[in-house]
Amino acid sequence: MNWRIALPAITFLAALSAYASDRFPAPAVKEWVEVETKPNGEKEEVKFMTIDGIMVHETDPALQPPPPVVTPGNPAGKKQPAGAPSDAIVLFDGGDLSQWTSKDAGQETKWVVKNGAMMPTDDSGPIRTKAEFGSCQLHVEFATPAEAKGISQGRGNSGVFLMGQYEIQVLDNYENTTYPDGQCGALYGRHKPLANVCRKPGEWQSYDIVFHRPHFDENGEVLKRATFTVFHNGVLIHDHVELTGGTGWEGPHAISHYVAHGGTGPIELQDHGNPVLFRNVWIRPLAG
Ligand code: MG
Repeated sequence: MNWRIALPAITFLAALSAYASDRFPAPAVKEWVEVETKPNGEKEEVKFMTIDGIMVHETDPALQPPPPVVTPGNPAGKKQPAGAPSDAIVLFDGGDLSQWTSKDAGQETKWVVKNGAMMPTDDSGPIRTKAEFGSCQLHVEFATPAEAKGISQGRGNSGVFLMGQYEIQVLDNYENTTYPDGQCGALYGRHKPLANVCRKPGEWQSYDIVFHRPHFDENGEVLKRATFTVFHNGVLIHDHVELTGGTGWEGPHAISHYVAHGGTGPIELQDHGNPVLFRNVWIRPLAG
């Protein structure tokens, strides 16, 4: 071996890998299963997961401090939706649902349009766009029910799903607490928002989302994790956050992993049994 060539090459590769691990540090994930006994005596296996030492859906504020409450300053759009930019693809402007469909293939959506807003009906299930998108800038306005019913996750629950699977939680957390990684604006089960910027129940709110999709290699391994930058009512709540895995429910203490998929998927809005309203949905596809 010619060390005059090999040593600089090894040094360079070591520096490159150090740079890569600094730039994209992998989260420390621990997972285990415990057998618990239900009130009726039945045994069940419950998954547990910690991400960087914090339990998924941790409720203890000493272990997972809730984000500070911030009152949004911009009343614009409170009554009338803001217009879409000229190059945006308008997905819903208060008219019809012609660009949307049921999650069940071939079925029409049971969501309805009332007073320029769309909303789920009883057992309608989620609604998704017919068109598919990858990386994008997405604007969504929503209003949780004016009559605040329920507590924690049961109050004004919905969600905005990128590529049909990565959920930014929609929830009424105005004077309503829940586990921080599941509150309004959370990348569900993965990253709590930087602040709680919820307006009062029934008031219109906005998400402005910059999403870069994940990339996978031919073996289904993650080459590049998804990133999210999100503004809630104009306030930054995710600052170029790398999504550390999936956002699917895996029980009260765990969350799904990445599962390899293609380059596009639908925008989906959740039906979680609460009549949350949506309006003024537009998207600008991005490269990458
Ligand atoms: Mg939800």
